[in-house]
Amino acid sequence: MENAFRQKLVSKMNEGKKQPLVAIVGRTNVGKSTLFNRLAKKRIAIVDPTPGVTRDFLEEIVDFQDIEARVVDTGGIEFNPQEPLQSAVERKAWEIIEEADLVMFVVDGRASLTLPEQELLARLRRLGKRLLLVINKREGMTHEVPPADFFSLGVENMLQVSALHGDGIRRLKEVVGEILKEVVSEGKLATSPQRSKVVVLGKPNVGKSTLCNLLFGRERCIVSDVPGTTRDAVTIAVDTPFGHYQLIDTAGLIRKARLQDAVSFYAQTRAQHALEEADLCILVIDPLSGVTRQDKRIAAQVAEHKKCCLVFLNKWDLVQKLNPGFPQARIEEWARRDLSFLHYASFLIGSALDTSIREKIFAALAGIITRYHQRVKTSVLNEILQQELSELKTKGFLPERSKLYYATQTRIAPPCIRVYTNSMDEETKKRVAKIVEQALRRRLNWEGVPLDVELQRK
Ligand code: GDP
Ligand code: GDP
Repeated sequence: MENAFRQKLVSKMNEGKKQPLVAIVGRTNVGKSTLFNRLAKKRIAIVDPTPGVTRDFLEEIVDFQDIEARVVDTGGIEFNPQEPLQSAVERKAWEIIEEADLVMFVVDGRASLTLPEQELLARLRRLGKRLLLVINKREGMTHEVPPADFFSLGVENMLQVSALHGDGIRRLKEVVGEILKEVVSEGKLATSPQRSKVVVLGKPNVGKSTLCNLLFGRERCIVSDVPGTTRDAVTIAVDTPFGHYQLIDTAGLIRKARLQDAVSFYAQTRAQHALEEADLCILVIDPLSGVTRQDKRIAAQVAEHKKCCLVFLNKWDLVQKLNPGFPQARIEEWARRDLSFLHYASFLIGSALDTSIREKIFAALAGIITRYHQRVKTSVLNEILQQELSELKTKGFLPERSKLYYATQTRIAPPCIRVYTNSMDEETKKRVAKIVEQALRRRLNWEGVPLDVELQRK
């Protein structure tokens, strides 16, 4: 079963992988939006001389000399070396850059290179990305020698354009096309657009960092470059046979916070922020200390934010050492009872020190992610509901006068089922929604996935 899941997942992940991705990067006001519009041949992005106007990332398919690519304007990265990766926008921009097959680094040909731009460029180089330096605002001067500032950067691919007037744009398209064709023919397309975001949560000392190291290693970090910073939630991408993941790592910052203040407000808000961004949470519990109030509070947050959840009961080796022969099922039973908020969670027992657990965890995550995206046909949904609910009704478990007409899935990731009903008071609605959820969970596998049941009067 798990194998079928895996295959489906892998083929799903491969969909949409064909088109190369080009990221337009540069500080604010150099002309990124103008260039994006010029390439997209539409006026989509808002162009405004005040810095920071392009808020969201715009994406457009552009034809570069017989090769199509997705082009994304990453907006102005306000690169502050003191506080790297501060804003959500900047983190998103780096995610896009990480996926990109080519980065167009746009600079203003009328200004000199700023320090933040130099930092940004250095960082792009460290990522090993293919770079194209686009010197903008060079109307009428695209054939002249580029200003020394830029020439001396030693970027192999460099072009002068005027995004506003169109000078040099044809040449730019040719050059980008050539680079992308090379990328494609080498089969080195870097894109993996479907990364599920995972966050590892738990109270201090349960083994979060140990687990993160096991799952995500340390090689592929895009970390803030400031040595010793543990304040930033770092994202780490990992590709496994079970799918593509991105870890939002909060372990470092929590570790640091622990040194100063165990319940640091800062660490908590960052962990919460990471949770909001994630698709999936691994909640690590130390069974030796039992499920504590702190564990329950985190569990409640996970449920409240409607995140998929794998509860990992860690340190199984220690449990075995202290209580040889203790049954795993008992521990799971306790944890399930104490974490009643997370009635939908998937549970796994093991040890973060045991490397063989890595594969089991990724397989579990893959299953959860598949279910998170599953779409149940309306006919199947209604057949199940009819069977399950009529039985409940005869047994008197469904409120007397409640009528459920039909159901349909209105959303995936997280899934939502809408059921059309007769008029009901709020109290009854809540009860019925819960009964419907339980019925659906009995018949369809939603393990690890929160399920919204929405009742609507017909
Ligand atoms: P971004 O948001 O930082 O990518 O920059 P915009 O695309 O919003 O451009 C900032 C300003 O530079 C706007 O006033 C544009 O009209 C101007 N601009 C963009 N490209 C050129 C160009 O090629 N030449 C000149 N002279 N101005 C340009
Ligand atoms: P964090 O504070 O949640 O990040 O916890 P750490 O990953 O720093 O782990 C706390 C301590 O528990 C460390 O000494 C780990 O070596 C230890 N530890 C973590 N997982 C296991 C496990 O599965 N078995 C055992 N015996 N020790 C573990």
